[in-house]
Amino acid sequence: MIGVAVLGATGSIGTSTLEVIKRHGARFRPIALTANRQVEPLFEQCIEYRPEYAVMADDDSAQQLRDRLQEVGVGVEVLSGLDGLKRVATLPQVDYVMAAIVGAAGLEPTLAAASAGKRVLLANKEALVMSGRLFMDTIRESGAELLPVDSEHNAIHQCMPADRKNGLAGAGVSKILLTASGGPFRTTPLEQFADITPEQACSHPNWVMGRKISVDSATMMNKGLEVIEACWLFDAEPEQIQVVLHPQSVIHSMIQYTDGSVLAQLGNPDMRTPIAHALAWPERMDSGVPPLDLFAIARLDFEAPDFSRFPCLRLAYEAIQAGGTCPAILNAANEIAVQAFLDRRLNFATIPDVIEATLGNVSSCPAESLTAVLAGDAAAREQATQLISQKEGQSWA
Ligand code: NAD
Ligand code: MG
Repeated sequence: MIGVAVLGATGSIGTSTLEVIKRHGARFRPIALTANRQVEPLFEQCIEYRPEYAVMADDDSAQQLRDRLQEVGVGVEVLSGLDGLKRVATLPQVDYVMAAIVGAAGLEPTLAAASAGKRVLLANKEALVMSGRLFMDTIRESGAELLPVDSEHNAIHQCMPADRKNGLAGAGVSKILLTASGGPFRTTPLEQFADITPEQACSHPNWVMGRKISVDSATMMNKGLEVIEACWLFDAEPEQIQVVLHPQSVIHSMIQYTDGSVLAQLGNPDMRTPIAHALAWPERMDSGVPPLDLFAIARLDFEAPDFSRFPCLRLAYEAIQAGGTCPAILNAANEIAVQAFLDRRLNFATIPDVIEATLGNVSSCPAESLTAVLAGDAAAREQATQLISQKEGQSWA
């Protein structure tokens, strides 16, 4: 039996992961499930999956969960906070760690899993965006396995040659074609961007996801973070990654080879496919996703991305090109701006302005240590928070 810890078990990726694991109950055993502060959803999951451990983000929620489990006589050890997350990510009986916490909160537990040599199934792209080389070095030094769950990166992984000892060029790869749906506002007139509501931004045309990544998809910061994620995962230069708008989200990404071949991975837009791929790799197993019906899809469209409509995409390319802690600063400013937008304290059109101003005001340094990355993250959060409160109720210009 393969022991699995699901970090962020109550989220969109976490619940899809548990669905896939349930289909293969003889092969995978959920050892630990974690959540932020949602006691009831994690309680329900503990009843259904009977993990050894559950982790809540704070002591109060942990105590509530303990009480609930005691009432029904279910024995699960309940831990709390970052220490609890790191502990379950490194347990000897845990072989695979699904990193599906959203945002910077997932960085340290994911790094802990990497240091402990686990198979890391990476959904939490923010962790890799923030810590880049440090993360990849940790994986290599510990002998951990890193399998991308983000659908595009999972697709790229599937289309890449296994042997890349001599780099992408040595393997005959000329470009990574990273597909993007363009989100819900691909064709919305720009002058309406200021009036976009959180409800509109969170209703994605093709995918059902958590609120933060839904807003990121609407600003296309999600694609920007994915460009950075792809640079680290596949040792690519930003210029080797071409974003391709593909509104149907059927092709999940492609690799262009020097001989003119283009390999693509296609599938229904359902995260259970990349999750099952990463769990079973190098084998294949049933994910519960219905087969792709090409006749129903009938056509696939492609467009070039419009960088002036989606400045977040440009900012992400600039941040990875600038290097150091710039991607961590970009990510932190984005997390603060997105939360302010979801709280209706910032209008949608000004999200990129907050990020650009934060990148301009916080100085970057080499991202050599976790301390440096976390310091960049903290400084950017403070700066972005300050910018948003200064501008509250004013126009941004
Ligand atoms: P979500 O909001 O649905 O779930 C997030 C999970 O993390 C929940 O279990 C929540 O309890 C937990 N969590 C949140 N804040 C926490 C904190 N401070 N401490 C501890 N736990 C915390 O998010 P999601 O859509 O499942 O996305 C998870 C990650 O996967 C994100 O990094 C996202 O970018 C990535 N991802 C998601 C999708 C998707 O289709 N949903 C696709 C690709 C990548
Ligand atoms: Mg993606």
